[in-house]
Amino acid sequence: MDLLSIVVPCYNEEESVEIFFDEIQKTLVDFDYEVIFINDGSDDSTLEKIKNIADSSPNVKYISFSRNFGKESAIYAGLVNATGSLVCLMDADLQHPPSLIPEMIDTISEGYDVAAARRVSKKGEPIVSTLGSKLFYKLFSAISNLDLAEGATDYRVMTRQVSDAVLQLSEYNRFSKGIFQWVGFKTKWIEYENVERVAGETGWSLWQLFTYSIEGIIAFTTVPLSMSIVLGTIFSVFAFIYLVFIIVKYLLYSDPVQGFATIMCAILFLGGIQLLSIGILGKYLEKTYKETKNRPIFIVKETNIDDR
Ligand code: UDP
Ligand code: MG
Repeated sequence: MDLLSIVVPCYNEEESVEIFFDEIQKTLVDFDYEVIFINDGSDDSTLEKIKNIADSSPNVKYISFSRNFGKESAIYAGLVNATGSLVCLMDADLQHPPSLIPEMIDTISEGYDVAAARRVSKKGEPIVSTLGSKLFYKLFSAISNLDLAEGATDYRVMTRQVSDAVLQLSEYNRFSKGIFQWVGFKTKWIEYENVERVAGETGWSLWQLFTYSIEGIIAFTTVPLSMSIVLGTIFSVFAFIYLVFIIVKYLLYSDPVQGFATIMCAILFLGGIQLLSIGILGKYLEKTYKETKNRPIFIVKETNIDDR
C-alpha cells in the first residue's frame, strides 16, 4: 500500500493537536501513513504536545521552527520532508475533516493527481469576510491567468509528482492557493460544509486576510502594474480634449479666470491616482527585493527527522 504523508502546520494549537491526532488514528486505521507536524514558532505548549505524541507513535515526525514563519513556510517544510508517495496537507484545528481522506485517496486511485477540498458553506463566519473572500476570488481570477475555485482550501491529497512540482516553486513569497493552481495537474474538487475550529482561535484578523489577498494578487499577476498605463492614457486623452475646449472658449468669449473647483478636483483626483500607482510599484519592488535576497523559507530549531 502507498505511504501517505500528512503535513500539518501548527501555530499555537496546544488544545487541538491531540484531538487532531486521535481523529486521524481513528479514521486511518486501515492505512499506511506518517504525520509530519510543523511547529511554526508557537508560543504555547504545542511543541511539548507534539513531542509527546511522537514519543508514543513511531509514525509521527515533527519539525520545529526557530520562530513563526507563517503557514506557507510550514507547508513548504512539510512537503520537503514528506516521504510518502501520496502527500496530504491539512490544518490542525479539525476544520479540515479527516473523514474526507479515504475519499481523497480513492479519487487519486481513479486517476486524478490531486483531490482537493472546497468549502461550500461559510456557516459561522462573519458576513464581511464571506463577502470579502467572494470578491477576492472573482478579482483574482479576472486579473490573473489562474482560475481559483471559490472556497478552495489547502486541504488536499496529492501524488508525489505534484508535491515535487510545488517544491520546484521555491519562491520566498508563497501564496499556496495560487501555487497549487499554477502547477496544474488533474484536480478533483471534493465539497464539504464549513466546520468550526475544535479549539483555540484563528490567527487571522480581517486586516490580515485583506493584506494576504493583496499579496496573493501581487504574487500571481502583474496586471496592477499596467493599470497606471491605462489610467494615464485615458486621462491624457480627456485632458487634451478639455484643453482644446478651453482654448476655443477663450478665443470666442475671452472668459476671466474661473473654475477653482474644477482645478482642485483634478489635482486631488490625479494626485490620488499617482500615489496609488507609486504604491503599487513599490509593492512589486518590495517583493522583488525580498526575492533577490534569497533568504531561507524557514529555519529549523529542532526535529526528530535525522536523515535530512
Ligand atoms: N498556522 C501556521 N502558522 C501561522 C498561522 C497558522 O502554521 O502563522 C496553521 C494553524 O495552526 C492551522 C492552519 O495553519 O493548522 C490554519 O490556521 P487557522 O485555523 O488559524 O486559519 P483558518 O482556518 O482560519 O484559515
Ligand atoms: Mg482553521
